[in-house]
Amino acid sequence: MSDSLERYRSKRDFRKTDEPSGSDGSEGGDRRFVIQKHDASTLHYDVRIEADGVLKSWAVPKGPSTDPREKRLAVRTEDHPLEYAGFEGVIPEGEYGAGTVLVWDAGTYENLRRDDDGNEIPITDSIDQGQVEIRLDGEKLRGGYALVHAKLGGDEENWLLVKMDDDEADARRNPVSTEPASVLTGRSLEEVADDEGPDGGDGKEHD
Ligand code: MN
Repeated sequence: MSDSLERYRSKRDFRKTDEPSGSDGSEGGDRRFVIQKHDASTLHYDVRIEADGVLKSWAVPKGPSTDPREKRLAVRTEDHPLEYAGFEGVIPEGEYGAGTVLVWDAGTYENLRRDDDGNEIPITDSIDQGQVEIRLDGEKLRGGYALVHAKLGGDEENWLLVKMDDDEADARRNPVSTEPASVLTGRSLEEVADDEGPDGGDGKEHD
């Protein structure tokens, strides 16, 4: 079991939240990525990529862009367990990250970074070096994306998420606003909250 999940576990009470505890440590298969839309105290998109048996994670307030000219702030957050990629539901009031989560995009990714001899640079090394380059094969997002450690405002956790300029780049698309629903269940945030919140609702009325 990976020690890198210690921070993840310490923030959560798994008797109260349906989020996975990361106990099965399963590995293997294609490397996955997932982007979860998370309606917490502020709405954001959690970009997570599989590496070293966990999901390396960044919170992107504005969500990813398909326009290479758009640089999106991506705040590095704690590693999450692999099973978290399938989590869609409601984190209860009072718990860490309380709010509704849906799986906004999911798929596999390819590591694009190579050393001078053409060998793949492991993602964890790329993270240490502050330069991650991956090609996504998702339902909404495809093609190259770079995550660059920018330390904006001196904050060590601040990175930038930028679409690489390739065939999948498209300044006219804006999937964050035009394709808001879950790729897992087709539900909106409101529908997930109504289906899975306490007493089958989030306390708000939806027509
Ligand atoms: Mn989040």
